Amino acid sequence: MQKTKEGFLSKISKAIAGKSTVDEEVLDNLEEALVSADVGVETTVRIINRIEERVARDKYMGTGELNQILKEEVEKILVDAPESTSYTFDSEMPAKPYIILVVGVNGVGKTTTIGKLAHNFKNAGKSVLLGAADTFRAAAVDQLTIWSERVGVPIVKQPMGSDPAAVAFDTAQSAVSRNSDVVLIDTAGRLHNKAHLMDELNKIKRVIQKFIPDAPHEVLLVLDGSTGQNALEQAKHFTAATDVTAMAITKLDGTAKGGVVLAIADQFKIPVKFIGVGEKATDLLVFDKHEFVDSLFN
Ligand code: GDP
Repeated sequence: MQKTKEGFLSKISKAIAGKSTVDEEVLDNLEEALVSADVGVETTVRIINRIEERVARDKYMGTGELNQILKEEVEKILVDAPESTSYTFDSEMPAKPYIILVVGVNGVGKTTTIGKLAHNFKNAGKSVLLGAADTFRAAAVDQLTIWSERVGVPIVKQPMGSDPAAVAFDTAQSAVSRNSDVVLIDTAGRLHNKAHLMDELNKIKRVIQKFIPDAPHEVLLVLDGSTGQNALEQAKHFTAATDVTAMAITKLDGTAKGGVVLAIADQFKIPVKFIGVGEKATDLLVFDKHEFVDSLFN
């Protein structure tokens, strides 16, 4: 998160450089700075409007106060977004087996996130099962198999090109017979056709429900935090195609643009649950709003 923090702070200080009062020009610069930190136009405008209201109300605002006020506005956005802590790795899961369907476009870090989650759950003493239902790319099944070996958890898979729902069926069946605690099911991330995506995810859900009627317990959308507007577009598509219940935002170690987390929290009102900060199994953080705000401003 170091890069995000430095990027955010340096953009803000550039916006107010040489100015002692928050005026029209400072607000314009700040608007530009937030958009360039990937906060997104909609969310940026909301933040700027709120600051303008405060300037109008108080008649005067020094640029020295701006940091604190911006921090308060960012906090409000995150507090308005729903809490995400229905479980932690250590706590008892709300259901057993707890089925997490993982969705997202190829390349965003879906497989890596599944590997990291498996590692964390296993470390917390839970039995984990992986389901390789992204059967369209041989590499997807191979990568997930590598993670299953690395972490030491079983995987259910079929040859490339098999029906993803058939893999989901086998996975759910196996989870019940093994008495697994947590099941992570990878899905294909093809976005070119919303109806197709919707049908495929619905079919996967239906077959899982044959074994576990209230599953999936979570639909986790993985987004690449370094892709800004693309991540927001993907979030729009996936939330339109299925009931996304949580988000994981990856690659925040490699970008100075962590503002996308704010845009997502503000626009989708779906909890950001996990943050990816590297390629290793341990590089996954449970998202904490307060820590995030502190990391941006302190
Ligand atoms: P998938 O196609 O969505 O399953 O993507 P992968 O999990 O294969 O990840 C794509 C690439 O991104 C790989 O090289 C991963 O090592 C890398 N990656 C995934 N998550 C992170 C992260 O949080 N930080 C960094 N720096 N790289 C990541």
